[in-house]
Amino acid sequence: MKEIAIVTGASRGIGREIAKTLARKGIKVIANYNKSKEKAEQLQEELKKENIEIDIVQADVSKREEIKKIIKYALEKYNKIDILVNNAGISEYKLVTEETDEDWNRIINNNLYSAFAMCQEVIPNMIYNKKGCIINISSIWGLVGSSMEVIYSISKAGIDGLTKALAKELGPSNIRVNSIAPGLINTDMNNNLSVNDKLQLENEIPLGRIGESSDVAKCVSWLIEDNYITGQVISVDGGWIIT
Ligand code: NAP
Repeated sequence: MKEIAIVTGASRGIGREIAKTLARKGIKVIANYNKSKEKAEQLQEELKKENIEIDIVQADVSKREEIKKIIKYALEKYNKIDILVNNAGISEYKLVTEETDEDWNRIINNNLYSAFAMCQEVIPNMIYNKKGCIINISSIWGLVGSSMEVIYSISKAGIDGLTKALAKELGPSNIRVNSIAPGLINTDMNNNLSVNDKLQLENEIPLGRIGESSDVAKCVSWLIEDNYITGQVISVDGGWIIT
């Protein structure tokens, strides 16, 4: 039977490219979306033209009950989950003094709680099968912090903590857990940047370009193929942040 992967936030940007890449590798993908139903349906149609079937499941992964919907769907249809990619996330630019408790709850729930709760829900099945690969999409800002993105940076640092702790707890069950920390990737999340901003940022990146979603998806694909890497935070950033 094919490997089964859940990719959260797969309607747009990085998650969409991850879903495509895994599906084209022959993995059965359950692509989660929240608000962008049409985009998720387009993705399903696009792959259908290549004779590839994927499932799309609507759920707001910042909420436990909705996460359970995805897991129920996967287990009823396929009886197992081999791969989980926690990609869904949001960002916000604000001075720290302007951040509210509402901002805190929204960003932490969407970026960090979602990954934690998704892991909690898939892990029993992975432990039962003694097999699993979890990839959490964090950010270089979780490693080095970003001005005017304090809560976002905290959420991503939290994801890396989750990755390391889970890698230790789940290693004996043959479940690997890693983070990918993208740098600047060309998606809707960076629509606020002007052409000039982008040119300036490109000058700061040793490889001289902004990343594409496919750069991240390739790393996901490679981590899935591997079987001895766990507990790592792998930057995909063109060398922007070298620690
Ligand atoms: P994006 O283009 O804004 O897409 C975000 C995706 O996340 C959408 O598919 C959205 O789904 C989904 N999503 C958000 N909240 C959700 C929720 N509560 N439940 C389910 N899905 C949800 O962003 P992106 O650039 O692809 O970012 C993907 C991940 O990479 C994020 O975790 C982000 O923090 C991280 N990252 C991005 C960059 C970058 O430069 N782009 C850099 C570092 C890290 P709907 O549209 O269906 O609601």
